[in-house]
Amino acid sequence: MADIIKLLPDHVANQIAAGEVVQRPASVVKELLENAIDAGANNIKLIIKDGGKVLIQVVDDGLGMSATDARLSFERHATSKIQKAEDLFNLSTKGFRGEALASIAAIAHVEMQTKSENEELGTHLKIEGSKIIFQEASVTPKGTSMAVKNLFFNIPARRNFLKSNQVELRHITDEFHRVALAHPTIAFHFYNNGSELFNLPSDNYRKRIVNIFGTRTNQKLVPVEEETPIVVIKGFITKPEFAKKSRGEQFFFINNRFIKSPYLHHAIVAAFEGLIKSDSYPGYFLYLEVDPASIDINIHPTKTEVKFDDEHSLYAILRSTVKHSLGQFNVAPALDFEHDPNLQTPYEFKNKSVIQPNVTVNSGFNPFQETRNTASASRSYQKPNTQSWESLYVGHESKMGADDNARSISFESDTITGSIFEGEKESTEAVTTTFQIRRKYIVTTIKSGMVVIDQSRAHQRVLYEKFLKNSTVQQAVSQQLLFPLSVSFSKSEIIALQEIEDILVSIGFLFEKIEGESITVTGVPLLVAESEVGMILDQLISDYQQEITEESFSHTDILSKTLAKTLAVKTGETLDNASQIALVNDLFACKEAMVSPFNKPVYITITENDIDKKFI
Ligand code: ADP
Ligand code: MG
Repeated sequence: MADIIKLLPDHVANQIAAGEVVQRPASVVKELLENAIDAGANNIKLIIKDGGKVLIQVVDDGLGMSATDARLSFERHATSKIQKAEDLFNLSTKGFRGEALASIAAIAHVEMQTKSENEELGTHLKIEGSKIIFQEASVTPKGTSMAVKNLFFNIPARRNFLKSNQVELRHITDEFHRVALAHPTIAFHFYNNGSELFNLPSDNYRKRIVNIFGTRTNQKLVPVEEETPIVVIKGFITKPEFAKKSRGEQFFFINNRFIKSPYLHHAIVAAFEGLIKSDSYPGYFLYLEVDPASIDINIHPTKTEVKFDDEHSLYAILRSTVKHSLGQFNVAPALDFEHDPNLQTPYEFKNKSVIQPNVTVNSGFNPFQETRNTASASRSYQKPNTQSWESLYVGHESKMGADDNARSISFESDTITGSIFEGEKESTEAVTTTFQIRRKYIVTTIKSGMVVIDQSRAHQRVLYEKFLKNSTVQQAVSQQLLFPLSVSFSKSEIIALQEIEDILVSIGFLFEKIEGESITVTGVPLLVAESEVGMILDQLISDYQQEITEESFSHTDILSKTLAKTLAVKTGETLDNASQIALVNDLFACKEAMVSPFNKPVYITITENDIDKKFI
């Protein structure tokens, strides 16, 4: 048989390798930024056009390259960073594979200008699809500028696979955050389509975080510090009350390299246990220093996964360190037994008579006053303060009459913002008897038996369809705020907000301005309470950011889901009879009453037959 095995030509091998290294423009950004850092740059500029599809450029003031190195840097496995296999176990650089430039040059148009310190002239080199177009001497400042244009120009399938410019920009911004957070002393500029997105001066860790995520981040940060023989931990966690419903601001850096580690993430979540709700995630920016010999970052070409020698100890140390920081932050000023409390009283107050505090009571206040406003079922049962009040009565329900139990005790009727169950149908089949069990399910009867409805999911479905309809059919109903509300966000949140502004307006938000780090809200959807605006916008933005990176679904759909989830009645809330009936009727008026917006079953039916069987 004839020999059939051949070595692949270099440009083909490079193109194949590129598939591993470069998934999207953000991968190029990561490689170029890391090269600039490895070159010892103090100032790094990132320039992006059209989500990186048209241009990705990184300009640094680092070491630069000689003419020969400039040419060699595009060869596969050409690197100045390691020389022998052992070096792999003592890495202090980001790169080491010598693959990135070769891969990028195989699938894009690359133009490089570079000059090292002690050379008169630099090098200008152009390479397209692994082919050198020209290389010439040029006048250029010390450092390197690398411009990558028309990514995937020779792989149409890949190019078509790229998402919208917005989505690609989000990925790029994520990479930029990771690199910029890991290197606060390096100054970064980031321009997108000609406008400045980030200007980060050389700073300390805290200021870098605040510069990226906005001034209001500062108050959220709790410092973390620990030194043990196997690891040094520095950084910040965010206070428990700022935990978010979705992932976002979670960063681990090992030896200044961003890494993902579900295992270590779990250590943090464990430390927060009991302090945040189970569906929220703590934020953290944690910088770990370990002996480079004790980790292996060689697992994956994109290098965000790391293998540790002693993962279990690291887990335990991390968890207790974070716990300790949380404890220090949470515990009120510690008692100090060294001091005699009497000495703490300022002298002038010692002999003064005690003034009796004056307590005033609102005598007209009646906690048991019912608001049985059938026409507009009140939303006051959603107020958290009534909830905690009600919780005192858990377990007493059975002693009350069924009817009493179904009614809610409500305070603060001034927060009634209108009926959630507007547009009830007066159809003949309308449900008239319902009851609530365990503040979770609503039970009602149908001809063939009974229906058990998950109250929260049912309400989500009702609200979801309502928001969808509002945004597509008619002008949304909006309530004007008496005083415009100013809410502040980080730069990337503001960008996201600008992207979804139209949709938010279509579901009832009104904005006066969105700029800098703050927005002014002048109107909100009918069901949104003023006090919830910040929280809801936070949630909308983070869901949008999360979803948009996954799949560009309809934005209206994403936001309607989020709003429905945020505003829906929750498990654990008591619904009065009128609300129960209205909810059931509204649910069955929905297009898809069977499933929640998140594809969970909303109700089950139990037929007479089912019940009969149980009695056999
Ligand atoms: P690696 O970073 O893994 O070594 P790359 O393909 O990214 O591989 O880069 C190849 C070589 O090119 C590097 O080892 C370095 O010597 C040189 N190089 C790349 N970018 C720069 C830069 N911005 N400044 C100076 N040298 C660079
Ligand atoms: Mg590199």
